[in-house]
Amino acid sequence: MSDRTIDILRDLIAIDSVNPSLASGGGGEAEIANAIAATLRRGGLDVEIQEVAAGRSNVIGILEGRQQGRSLMLCGHMDTVGVAGMDAPFDPVQKDGRIYGRGSQDMKGGLASMIAAILRIAENGGLAAGRMLLAAVVDEEYASIGADALVTKWKADAAVVGEPTDMKIAVGHKGFEWVEITTEGVAAHGSRPADGRDAIMRMARVLARLEKLDHEIQSRKPHPIHGTGSLHASLINGGRELSTYPDWCTLQMERRTIAGEPNRCAFLEVEKILDDLKSEDPEFKASAKFLFSRPPYLTPEDHDLPQMIGALVAGRGMKPVRGGMTFWTDAAILGEAGIPSIVFGPRGAGLHSTLEYVFEEDVLACRDILIELATGFC
Ligand SMILES: [Zn+2]
Repeated sequence: MSDRTIDILRDLIAIDSVNPSLASGGGGEAEIANAIAATLRRGGLDVEIQEVAAGRSNVIGILEGRQQGRSLMLCGHMDTVGVAGMDAPFDPVQKDGRIYGRGSQDMKGGLASMIAAILRIAENGGLAAGRMLLAAVVDEEYASIGADALVTKWKADAAVVGEPTDMKIAVGHKGFEWVEITTEGVAAHGSRPADGRDAIMRMARVLARLEKLDHEIQSRKPHPIHGTGSLHASLINGGRELSTYPDWCTLQMERRTIAGEPNRCAFLEVEKILDDLKSEDPEFKASAKFLFSRPPYLTPEDHDLPQMIGALVAGRGMKPVRGGMTFWTDAAILGEAGIPSIVFGPRGAGLHSTLEYVFEEDVLACRDILIELATGFC
């Protein structure tokens, strides 16, 4: 027997909502936003469309309680990463209690449970008190312009971000920072070492220092929620042709950050490395550029939301596990805007890889837990 929640999930997977900033030709969020808005309206909710960029709009479903109370936001992103290497990414396949397809785990499974939760409350007599918001946002997989726009207009007393946590109650996650490093050399014919200066070899010196720094960062005392920071060399480019000394090399790197680390810590670390290399070799030429960062997140310790959701998880016979997630989420943006948030979503596997699935029973369990949470919290 098909459950409506699962039907919603299948419909979401069937729509190509690949983030167009990540993958050229990606479907974007216009079609999926229309579908979600229509589903919410059919369920009797007030729906607002918040245009964030051309063809990219957040959808906000609003359910007002009959009395004053607290407000709870359920927030999820509609976009997915690309589909390269997948056979049938938009063809939802149900097998052995799993649903396969791009976005099934990240995070159309969580989104479907949140949509179904607010619809179920609306049709079962509505919300006794407070207010419930369903916020389906654009662009989480790239620059989170959706969540950035959302918090300029919509606030709540708490939020649940339905990213896939394997039913763990995530009360924090790491931040990240992107830095670009360029080394300079001197182009020359490959047969003339006296004239050439090799920018790629110079980058190798930077890379060796970065690797050492990464080991040092990862051997620091772990934060109880965030663990340790880390860094990796993500993208590298340089050189002109085989027979020429390369006069440039560019590296784009990512540093994952934890609470207590200074703003722009990666940029400062890289500048220190470049200064050291310059003082060791006056000919060494390199520069660093800060590209982008998002802060780590911690749910306020005294907030009752983690406790409440923990009791609901335990009430279903599961052991409530509280902790941090490694990946960054829109919860950091909601948190910065003064909305205490947790991250909670279904089990699955394969997010961002070619075989992705979510467990059906978890999508349904998340829905039921969110229904109880909203009625208890608001
Ligand atoms: Zn996600």
